[in-house]
Order: sequence, then structure tokens, then C-alpha cells
Amino acid sequence: MADYIYANVIVDISHEKVDRPFQYRIPDRLMGRVDVGSPVNIPFGRGNNVRKGYVIELTDEPQWEVDKIKEILDVAEDTVSAEDLSMKLAAWMKRHYGSTMNAALRTVIPSGKKQNRQVHKYVSLRLPEREATEYYYECARKKQTARERILKELLDNPGDRIPYELITSKLNVTSATLKSLSDKGIIRIDSEEYFRNPVAAETTRYGQKVLSDEQQNIVDSVVRDYDEGKRETYLIHGITGSGKTEVYIALIDAIVKKGRQAIVLIPEIALTYQTLMRFYRHFGDRVSVVNSSMSPGEKFDQMERARTGDIDIIIGPRSALFTPFPNTGIIIIDEEHETTYKSETMPKYHARETAIELAKLVPGGACVVLGSATPSLEAYYKARSGEYKLFELTKRLTGGTLPTVEIADLREELRKGNRSIFSLRLQELLDDRIKKGEQAMLFINRRGLAGFVSCRSCGHVFKCPHCDVSLSEHRGGRLVCHYCGYEEPVKKICPKCGSKFVSSFRAGTQQIEDEVKKFWPNARVLRMDADTTRTKGSYEKILSAFANKEADVLVGTQMIVKGHDFPNVTLVGVLAADMSLYASDYRASERTFQLLTQAAGRAGRGERAGNVVIQSYQPDHYSILTAAKQDYEAFYTEEIAYRDILRYPPISHMMSVQIQSRDEEEGMAFSNRLRALMEQQQIQNAVFIGPALATIGKINDIYRFAVYVKLDDYDGLVFLKDALEKYIKDLQDAGKLKTVSVQFDFDPVNG
Ligand code: ADP
Ligand code: ZN
Ligand code: ZN
Repeated sequence: MADYIYANVIVDISHEKVDRPFQYRIPDRLMGRVDVGSPVNIPFGRGNNVRKGYVIELTDEPQWEVDKIKEILDVAEDTVSAEDLSMKLAAWMKRHYGSTMNAALRTVIPSGKKQNRQVHKYVSLRLPEREATEYYYECARKKQTARERILKELLDNPGDRIPYELITSKLNVTSATLKSLSDKGIIRIDSEEYFRNPVAAETTRYGQKVLSDEQQNIVDSVVRDYDEGKRETYLIHGITGSGKTEVYIALIDAIVKKGRQAIVLIPEIALTYQTLMRFYRHFGDRVSVVNSSMSPGEKFDQMERARTGDIDIIIGPRSALFTPFPNTGIIIIDEEHETTYKSETMPKYHARETAIELAKLVPGGACVVLGSATPSLEAYYKARSGEYKLFELTKRLTGGTLPTVEIADLREELRKGNRSIFSLRLQELLDDRIKKGEQAMLFINRRGLAGFVSCRSCGHVFKCPHCDVSLSEHRGGRLVCHYCGYEEPVKKICPKCGSKFVSSFRAGTQQIEDEVKKFWPNARVLRMDADTTRTKGSYEKILSAFANKEADVLVGTQMIVKGHDFPNVTLVGVLAADMSLYASDYRASERTFQLLTQAAGRAGRGERAGNVVIQSYQPDHYSILTAAKQDYEAFYTEEIAYRDILRYPPISHMMSVQIQSRDEEEGMAFSNRLRALMEQQQIQNAVFIGPALATIGKINDIYRFAVYVKLDDYDGLVFLKDALEKYIKDLQDAGKLKTVSVQFDFDPVNG
């Protein structure tokens, strides 16, 4: 810790005051004991009352007259409040990912204002079941689908009181509809200031499943560790339906009974109503949810409930990590491989690493449980090396048989003269399902579509000779590597097979829908993509329409492969499976494997066996072969070898320095300067790549460049980041940096 003279201190970290630090002198006796994030006692205001504050910055520059600056009285190390924790976590995020302290604080401190009154509303059935059932059929006849949805939910769960916010957000029912149903005496809406149900009572009421041996073993091991005072990170690797959620519930139950709290992270898109209801059924009012469709006031209320002990369990997206529980004991991250766990704004934190840091910081420590059917390379690598404990769930508890997966070679189709988007095998199976009245899903993998070029005859992909990632087509007929800037002209003839079918691939969901209609004019098709899901609630509407068998075929992008269960789906077609392989970043194969595995898992959830057809121009690629076999281990072995050869994470670490500028030349020059500055630091074994125009290139007249640094030692990257931050801050303070801005991204997941 360097010996600075002054500390900028904030006195109250509640949202509004973050922007107003006050400067204090660090007395000699405290020299070296004061760090960013330290809680300190300071004299404050005219009366010099002693207040607690937090250091957000250290500096040697006095802000005003030196002799008017007061001294810090002491470092307040004795207590650990929820605020102390937030502050420590923010300081860690600032250092670990790069950002200002203000930005880090805004991330960890719940924003929004307290609402005047906290009311929790519940919806239940008022009519007797028989009459309600009649009304339900009437709604169905009249096509009053919102009413139909809510009645179905209430009839499926007789006697339940369902949280109001769950009905409006997840069933997509408006308040007006609920009010009208209530006015008619069909449902009851209760408002209560307090509505407590002890966990124990809830547990017996809904009855817990008898866990399988595999499940019980996980619960026993984790609880045993916990009781022995060990706080570990665990990875549960298990396919969908193998009982992970049931394990989470049992673990939370055990930890909450010890008087501690639980945070459950789920990727926003998989925030399925069914999963949430399972938690509500089990834990009753001790659990709450935060999600992106809530107002800031609503979110803030949930944070208050956590702070005051009104709830023990919070479920939500990555930001739920910052719930101010007094004593968190367990953090669960479901589908830990999902990219939504990485923040796209500064600080660009990853929820997995941040959760592990938080678990270390809470008094007494917390354990962290990760779960996935297709673990991230990071998590599996650490589980293999013993840093995490690994558990496998191998059996599917939902019944149903695993689908038959076939790969259709699109190069062959071309040779056979089939110019359709559908391979002959997919046409045959689609025809069969449409005739039988069974449902099919057609999935196009659009990730990385932007401008990749390949040979449609032999599957050859144009790759960077240095970075082994796909080149993207830029204006002016150039193929460019987004990491190192290598470029070559677009070729008209394939260098491998001599064919002239070299092109960028442009099929989208609309073309697929058209093609289905061309083959089967009477088929009912639903389409789900960025266009059809623009309005709020449209996502749920399409999915529930498909679940209600209002369509034969659902066409969509990766949105359709997550979460939902459709028991009537017996065919899944993956069109151009390799599209995401062309994404110009080192995670392309991993993402492809995950998407294909998930897509294949959509078929055959019900009684009937399912088929999956994966169409590909590169049918021998290991991502595709291993996904078809649902063989994670085999995929991991191939992929980790690739990462090893090219020193990509998790074998090594990588920092992306992202430069944005309104002026192309200036941006490039500045990027080069940053690279030179980093090279001057003489960090051994650091590999510098770029600058190059970044993946997304020019958006809104802003040019984006990136310089990448690969290094085994994460702290070395942090050192380089610190050097750049200081350089940039000095320029900013001198008013010399107006048109350029810089962001950092460690071990990037989105490009
Ligand atoms: P995952 O989270 O891995 O997808 P779930 O926990 O949702 O798996 O379990 C899948 C299905 O199996 C659910 O319907 C769940 O109720 C059921 N299930 C889970 N564990 C058991 C068990 N021990 N006995 C019977 N059914 C179970
Ligand atoms: Zn070719
Ligand atoms: Zn390159």
C-alpha cells in the first residue's frame, strides 16, 4: 500500500451521496493502514461530530487549502456491517476489473428510493374449484388468453396464494385484468404489510422430495463441510432434469436453518415461472425475487426486506449478488456458464468470481454452489484442478428418453442438388411431425453472424493465421481479424477446394418461416427473434402460445433453446449449427457446444422419443460431434487443448483494453500509445495483440479499438491496468482527453 497523504472519504454510501467525497489528511500514525474501501472515523461538519466514512480514493493532491483539511481520527476496523461489505466488495471490483470507485459503488449499492409503504400482494382463487373451472373453459372459448393463463395457474395449484408480482411479470397479466377478475369475485387479492410463514411450516406443507442417492450425497457433503467450518466452491455438473434445483432447495433449507441467508442467481432469460414457484412453495414468504422488469422502488423494497430480516432468500440476475443480507451463508449460481453473468458495463465483473470474493468477505464465510449442464471452461478447469469440488448428477429424473441426434452434412446436400435451407432428412422428419400433429422447433444459431465468410462447398473457414479465430468481412472486400488486425482480401475462389461458392451466410428466421410455409402451406408457424419480442411480455406470449399447441413449428434464435419445457416437441432442427463457430473470438466453440447441447435437450421431454437434426458445413468439428453425443468430457478435452496452445483463458488470462473514439486516426494513435505504455512496464511473458478495430466496429459514429494482453498471472494484468488508469486519469485531469474513452474487460466473454 503506497503512502498517500490524503484520502477522499464519503460519509454516507446511500446512493445519492456517492458523488460527494470529502478530503481528509492521513496522519502519520495511520500511514499505510488506510486503503481504498477502508472504514474510517472522521470529524464531520461544523460541530466536528465523529462519523463513520469510507475511503474511496487516495491521493497526494490537496483539494483546497492544506491547513483547512481535517485529519482522519482512526480506522474503524471493529465492526462489519452490510455497508462495510459493500464497500470492500466495490474496492475489490474496482481493482480486479478496472473502473472508478464511483462506478463500482453504484454497482454494489441498490439504487432507487424507498417506497412509502411496503405492501405484499397475493392472488388466490375465490370461486369454488368447479365454478372456476367452468369460467376457465369460458375464457378459453372466448380466447381471453390472459384470463385463461391466470385461471389455469390458480387451478393447477389449489389453495395457493401466488405473489402478485410473479403473476404480472411472468404470466404477463395486467393489473387491469386482475382487478376486473377480482371485482367479479373470481379471484381474491390480499394486501398485507406482513405475511410471514416460518420456513419449517412451509417445508412440511409442500413436502420435500426424497432425494436420490446422487442428490443426497451432494447435500450431505456440502453440509458436512459447512459444519466443519470449511467454505468451499462446488460445481454440480448435471444435465437438465437431473435434479440440480432440488439440490439447491435442500441446501438452502439446511443453511437457512442455521440462521444464515441465501442468494440464488439465475440467468434472466431462464427466470422461468415454474422454477420460481418451486422456491415459493418451499420457502413461502421467506423468499423474494428481483428482476429487470421491476421498478427501482420495487427492487429497493426487496433490498430493505433483506436488510431487515424479512426474507432469507433472494432470487435474481447477477445484481442480486449485492443483496444486503446481514449474514449470507450460501450463494448459488444456476447455469453458471451463461454469458449474462458477465457485466457489460464498468466494472465488467463476472458474477462467479465476484460471488466467490463476496463469500470470503462475509463474516464467517459463505459457500458457493455452481450448477450447469455444460459448465464454463473456467469452472470445469478449476474443478479438475481441485480448486472447486466437483459433483456429477448423471440421471435424468424427469423420465422421457434422450433424443436421437443426427448430423446432416450441408456440403453433401449441395452436391445432391438440394438448395433448400432444410436438409433432406430434416424435410422428411418435419413432414412426418406436421402430419402427426406433433410439434417441432427450428433453431438458427445467429451468434457471430456478422460478416463471416466460408466455402459452402467444402466448409472451409477463413481464419487468422496468428489467433486461430474466424476473420470477418469488412467493407471494401477485406477479411479482418478482430484480435490482431491481420487482414487479407476476400477471395472469390476457395483456396482449399477451388469452388466458387464462397459467400457470407445470410439466412435468418424470416427465411426459415417462409421456407416452412412454402413446403407446408397449412402449417402454423410462430417466430421468435429480436423483431417479434420487442414489446414487453411478447416473449412469454409466444412461448405460452406454443405450449398451448397454437402452432406446429416454432422458429427462433437462441432465445428458444433455453428454459422452457414443451412435452409435445418431438423434433428439433438446428439450421447452420456452425454459425456460432465463426464468431471471431476464442469462445466460439464453447458457445456452439452449449447452444447445441441445450437445443438437443429440447426434444423428447415427454412420453414420445424425439429426434434432433444438426445441419452443419463442418460436421467433423469437435463442438458438433461432441454435442451430438452429449459428451461434455470429450468436448472439454479438445477445447482445453486449443486454449492451451494459444494461451487463451482459463489456461492464461486475457485483458482487453477497449478504446472508443469519434476520430478513427486519433483512436488508433491513442491505442498504439497505450500498447507502448504497457510494453514499457516490462512484464515478463506478456503477449500484446493489436490494436485492431473491435468486433462491433463502428457504432453510432464511434470507432472502437481493442488492444489485448495475454498473461498467465492475473495480478500482472491488474498492474498494467493500474498503469493505464493512472496515465488516463492524469490526461483527464489536465483536460487533454476529450474525445477518447477507455474501458477494461478481463477474460472477456462477449468478444
Ligand atoms: P434441474 O434443475 O437439474 O433441471 P430439477 O431439480 O428441476 O432438475 O429436477 C427435474 C425434475 O425432477 C423436476 O420435475 C423435479 O421435481 C424432479 N425431481 C428432482 N429430484 C427428484 C427426486 N429426488 N425424486 C423425484 N423427482 C425429483
Ligand atoms: Zn471450399
Ligand atoms: Zn489475429
